[in-house]
Amino acid sequence: MVAKIDTIKVIPSPPQQIHEQLSEQRLELTNALQTTLELRHLFQLFGEQIQAFIPHDGYHYYHPSLRETVEHGFKARHTCYAELHLNAEDYGLLVLYRNRAFSTYEMNVLDSLASCLIYPLKNITLYQQAMQAAHTDALTQVANRRALEENLRRECILALRQKSPLSIILIDIDHFKSINDNFGHDEGDRLLASVADCLKDCVRASDIVYRYGGEEFVILLSHTPIEGAELLAERIRYRLEHHTDSKLCGLPVTASFGVSALKNQDDGPQSLLNRADKAMYRAKMMGRNQVEIE
Ligand code: GH3
Ligand code: MG
Ligand code: MG
Repeated sequence: MVAKIDTIKVIPSPPQQIHEQLSEQRLELTNALQTTLELRHLFQLFGEQIQAFIPHDGYHYYHPSLRETVEHGFKARHTCYAELHLNAEDYGLLVLYRNRAFSTYEMNVLDSLASCLIYPLKNITLYQQAMQAAHTDALTQVANRRALEENLRRECILALRQKSPLSIILIDIDHFKSINDNFGHDEGDRLLASVADCLKDCVRASDIVYRYGGEEFVILLSHTPIEGAELLAERIRYRLEHHTDSKLCGLPVTASFGVSALKNQDDGPQSLLNRADKAMYRAKMMGRNQVEIE
């Protein structure tokens, strides 16, 4: 027969009683948790504040709709968890870890204190969703020009500091105006979304596709020299030409590509975009459906 390891018997307090006992702590906790709109920071504050009541070695949290994980410390043998939801809205699962077993009392304390996370989590979710919408193009569901401007500025600074290559590909669909004129604006819209899907399929998850303007897209390639970007542009050019979803009456839809890379400390986002635009314009002049670098 296997010996029972946990010998300490805890008489569990009724949860309601614990809830009342902890009212002051919950008020303090609620005030602290209201000060952030950042998921990682929220759980850092929560972890610090509950350490005195429920000593733990680490925690793990997953936000289902934001698909974000927050982890701290290390995973140990015993777990204690709180399911976080508000009516039908699921805010995920928080798991605490430690090497010593958690008592029923501690589990009830966690239940009570974790309830303070719900409204801050709701605010963070709404905030993040609004931020995401502000940086997403509604038609194609890729990142928009605003997102490009913010990310390109940041990536240029990082690339120069780390002496790491950075390239961009500017893509402009060929004869898009006549596609609209011949097939209608709705079909033009459908085609734009389909081209965006094709572009997303062609790149790694870390390479972001942006809708730069009407029928223009930009792909930002960190840690990529111009030779690599040119190869990728050529691969995308080929894929697009053969992409069945983008075909209209059996005719291929093509695009012209301009590739440029960050050069030196005096270089920046605007000149990088200008060079890619110049290269793309040259590709148009040379007959379209081709890649040029600058
Ligand atoms: P080129 O090969 O030289 O690039 O020719 P083009 O016709 O693609 O270029 P132009 O800049 O003359 O036309 C772009 C067209 O894209 C004109 C505009 O009506 C269309 N457009 C811009 N945004 C949208 C959109 O959101 N939906 C649709 N359907 N069309 C759009
Ligand atoms: Mg254009
Ligand atoms: Mg065009």
